[in-house]
Amino acid sequence: MALNVENSADGFDRYYWLEYLDHYFPLKMRVGERAMAFVSIRNQGNWQWLRHDPNGHPVDLAVWNEDRLLATHPLPQNSVNPNEQVIFHFPFEAPAQPGLHKLKVGLVHQNVVLFSGKNVPSLQISVEVGLREPTQGEENRDLVIAIQEKARISPWYYRPSGGIQRTRDGIAMPEFTSKASGAYLWDVQGRRYLDYVMGWGSAVLGYAEPRIQDALRQALGTGVLTPFPYAVEMEVATNVVDDFPCAEMVVFGKNGSDACTVAARLARAYTRKNVILHCGYHGWQDFWVEQVGMEWTGVPDRAESLIHGFRFNDQEHFENLFNIHRDNLAAIMLEPSGPGQSIQGNFQEPDSGFLELLSSSAKESGSLLIYDEIMTGYRHRHGSAQKATGVIPDLVCLGKALGGGMPLSALAGRAEIMQGAMARTHYGPTFKGEYLSFISANVAQRIFREESVAEYIHAYGTCLRDGLNDILHANGYPASCMGPPWRMSIVFAEDDPHRLRMIRTYYQQELLKEGIVTYHGIFLPSYAHSQDDLVRTLEAADRVFRKLFNDIDMAQIERALEIPLLPDR
Ligand code: PMP
Repeated sequence: MALNVENSADGFDRYYWLEYLDHYFPLKMRVGERAMAFVSIRNQGNWQWLRHDPNGHPVDLAVWNEDRLLATHPLPQNSVNPNEQVIFHFPFEAPAQPGLHKLKVGLVHQNVVLFSGKNVPSLQISVEVGLREPTQGEENRDLVIAIQEKARISPWYYRPSGGIQRTRDGIAMPEFTSKASGAYLWDVQGRRYLDYVMGWGSAVLGYAEPRIQDALRQALGTGVLTPFPYAVEMEVATNVVDDFPCAEMVVFGKNGSDACTVAARLARAYTRKNVILHCGYHGWQDFWVEQVGMEWTGVPDRAESLIHGFRFNDQEHFENLFNIHRDNLAAIMLEPSGPGQSIQGNFQEPDSGFLELLSSSAKESGSLLIYDEIMTGYRHRHGSAQKATGVIPDLVCLGKALGGGMPLSALAGRAEIMQGAMARTHYGPTFKGEYLSFISANVAQRIFREESVAEYIHAYGTCLRDGLNDILHANGYPASCMGPPWRMSIVFAEDDPHRLRMIRTYYQQELLKEGIVTYHGIFLPSYAHSQDDLVRTLEAADRVFRKLFNDIDMAQIERALEIPLLPDR
């Protein structure tokens, strides 16, 4: 079906067609309010849409209120080829008149033809606008949007550290934290939430642990970074050496990604080989990201990636890869307690037999075994996967729990390796010697030693996982709670990826409404979670599962979603 055919200068028929893939507009707003909206569109026509057309006919997104044009937004990229998808993110200002407004959103090929004319579809959206005072959270958001618009930064990033959107009926989900303490956080409206994200796993002792706060208060009053290290850095390094069997020398960084990146560099520098076999997530930096494909991710293209993923606890899969790459192998790197839910496996316990295989393969090929214990360090039973299994790697990456809530990471390992090649990696982040994080880490390490933190988390997580599974199985719900007790997730028995996204999003949304914060539904319990929190979580989950599996059918879920769909996993 060729629609809106136009004869172009080159004599070919061009036809316009498009498909709306996804969008988000708030359904309720207050007069004058600005919110973020997005529309995702695929070019289904046979020609390239241009942001800057030499003939003055760029393709823009237009928003109409009834038949009045409210705004146009340029393509966010230079061109969109046939079959390519484009996402417009833009601030949307509520109409000045209260009442129900019927909006229309469509593409325009400026000065030539309206895409959303007679034949080409447009999106129809209803927004109810009311008169009321802004909440404090909305004021903050308005302010940040205004600043970013002024700086010409895509306002979509007005919350650079991410977060959860407002609901479609206009109630703001927790958007800004005003305070965090123990297992709880409070939003700017003063509402309290039980948190299972816990600083992305860094607040393993709970937020604002009082002993750490005291130590930090006492440490204030001096510069945090000087050309010489503060002595406490040596204490923290010594503690790492004492706590992790493979550690003889330590270097520090700020993010887990620093530690993983320097581990990969060190392994390559030391072995003078290039390939890394890996399993799990190792941060956002180039060496690892190239395994997701190198199509203009920003990592320079290479004919073939130098990093290859193997499946957790899958001996055959590993051995096949190993046999292909053994002669050019720098390292075997993995999350020793299994990756998060992914194609490489669904959260599993470490299997010492599998780890032994990796260890002997590393030795056999002259490569290094690297454990990424950024998640498991000080959180896994016995404080680490290497202690729990007795299979000791050459190098270990630490982060998250290490800093007691402050930003600190480390690479530790055999002295012979680190002395042999560390200098050639040119590793040296400015803030590696920052004082307050060491103060915090030193107190945290003492607590990890003196109290049964990891064991408590294990016990709490086991009760939570068993309790959730009891509810799911007793009711015959098609889902299970899986994973080690310190990092669990509900795995839904649903094969269709779109339906799965909707189910996961609805589940996260309804838990939020219950005042429980998870990261894509993942639970990371901490030392600060109490028995009462456990009971409260199970009761809330029971209500959420009932809604999800009994009260709502799949056809309704899409309409019941109030927050943007969670990303694919
Ligand atoms: N490795 C693992 C196992 C992780 O879980 C993470 C963070 N989620 C990283 C590496 C990267 O750490 P960061 O985000 O601190 O750079």
